[in-house]
Amino acid sequence: MAELAERLGVSGPQVIKYLMTNGVAAALNQAVDFETAALAADHFGFEAESEDAAVEAAVEATGVAGQPGRARHPLLDLSGEDPATLVPRPPVAAVLGHVDHGKTSLLDVIRKTRVAAGEAGGITQSIGAYQVMHKGRPITFIDTPGHEAFTAMRARGADVTDIAILVVAADDGVMPQTEEAIQHARGAGVPIVVAVNKIDKDGANPDRVLQQLADRGLVSEQYGGDTQVVRTSAKSGDGLDDLLENILVTADILVQPKANPKRAAVGTVIDSHLERGRGPIATVLVQNGTLKVGDNIVAGAVFGKVRALLDDSGRKVQGAGPSTPVVVTGLSDVVVAGEVLHVTDTERAARTLAEQRALAQKQRQVQPVRHISLASLEAHAAEGETKTLNLVLKAEANGSLEALRGQIAKLGDDPAVKIKVVGEGVGAVSESDVNLAKVSDAIVIGFNVRPDDRARAAADDLGVDVRYYDVVYHVTEDIEKAVKGMYEPRMVEVFQGRAEVRRVFTVDGKNAIAGSHVLDGKITRNAVCKVLRDGAEVAHSRIEALKRFKDDVREVVKDYDCGITLADFNEFQEGDVIEAYVVEQQNL
Ligand code: GDP
Repeated sequence: MAELAERLGVSGPQVIKYLMTNGVAAALNQAVDFETAALAADHFGFEAESEDAAVEAAVEATGVAGQPGRARHPLLDLSGEDPATLVPRPPVAAVLGHVDHGKTSLLDVIRKTRVAAGEAGGITQSIGAYQVMHKGRPITFIDTPGHEAFTAMRARGADVTDIAILVVAADDGVMPQTEEAIQHARGAGVPIVVAVNKIDKDGANPDRVLQQLADRGLVSEQYGGDTQVVRTSAKSGDGLDDLLENILVTADILVQPKANPKRAAVGTVIDSHLERGRGPIATVLVQNGTLKVGDNIVAGAVFGKVRALLDDSGRKVQGAGPSTPVVVTGLSDVVVAGEVLHVTDTERAARTLAEQRALAQKQRQVQPVRHISLASLEAHAAEGETKTLNLVLKAEANGSLEALRGQIAKLGDDPAVKIKVVGEGVGAVSESDVNLAKVSDAIVIGFNVRPDDRARAAADDLGVDVRYYDVVYHVTEDIEKAVKGMYEPRMVEVFQGRAEVRRVFTVDGKNAIAGSHVLDGKITRNAVCKVLRDGAEVAHSRIEALKRFKDDVREVVKDYDCGITLADFNEFQEGDVIEAYVVEQQNL
């Protein structure tokens, strides 16, 4: 407690007095739990330091760290709660899987058929989550299917899902997004219940799906494993009761979700938009405590006072307890989905926190915080700490992915650093890969692939280290150096701009000219270029000539057309993207 007061920059008696008014009696030499520390940090933090620093102080002062594999937002972490205050809460399930395998259909049919008949009339539209009853017990479903939403939320530090429902169509089997979903659920440390869907269809082959899943480590009980697998049809409704039953069983055995409904609320915003006549509204999944009308709230850089609460059937309620989705009005603005919402003592505290966060966001935009990088790993290695280097691997083809994985495995385990591949796949580096890297504290390695625009923006925004290579040896070399604490800055290609090839000309049998439009940044005469087709690199060459109309020019900027000729490449196709780079020493 004395340490907490010191960290918060206030006197011990001040903290004691504040805690007493909140019903916590603690002496100066007594240890306080995280929740109490967070309460005090929340109260004093906004006066003393930034909120992040205050929460950090609370975490450090109580020695509460996130659970491994399940890095919770400090405000959502229950490990410091007094067990006596915790009671069971309904499990929260999210639906993941490949496109068209029936995720939306399953969510719809569960919602339509399982909500008590009397209430059905009240349902107008989805609020982003809903609760159904099975044998008198509630289950909460997140109504946005797909792991993109799931991971985007986790990347912001939110963590709403207790159980992942992996939907696999029985006629189609395991597909790329199925594999991604498995990786994301594992990354989140969330148990998976499998729904083998579309069993009504001709060509459905559930046994083949079970085999494919077993190959990926999800062995069903039928094959002697412990993965719960249910055969469903969103069309006929078959298997839905079983699915709900299995969610509850999994919750009871593996999750045992709990919360303290008596404390001030903490939850996650799962949807937010402007609504005519009502202003900004947000759907919040309350995760701990009870949210009440009149509460002062803050979510990200937005604050307010709860004006009204509506449940998932559109009815007004006075309070919403743990695992309950509820629509909140009274916020000052629309909130980014995934932000954590919590209740503050005073309106002023909410406002100050929101303002500080807005300021911090602006600063972050100027200087992104690097999450983990090969260089920071070196620092850890030098301090003699054991560290895991997590990697997300993306390559242009299965063959090279395997080669890369094989070479990395050969590096073996260093006593100080374990290397772990937390995700992998074929294709361009996507936003979803960057999010996965962020939540699992990983580095993204792109092999002969590039990021798409959204991935690039997400990597900048989240401070994820994304590296591109075209020689396997360079990947392993960098990893080895980092592991051994010998990482040295290298000459790297720094992105400069991008142009799209709109027409291809060949004059007098000479080099082809790519008539291009600069999409962003600029292209300079001395740049090195990569030619990308569908996200994969097809050429790498310096520029031979850069022209505007007939004139040679030194550079061409965004929104202008130009003609690009490369020294060693002639096979342009319309739609190719030319990326320009300059070579610089890496500055980490
Ligand atoms: P999502 O992309 O995973 O959300 O898939 P949708 O729920 O949109 O379903 C894709 C298509 O499969 C739609 O045409 C659905 O009507 C159909 N579908 C979904 N579930 C079933 C099912 O159990 N049986 C059959 N026969 N069709 C289904």
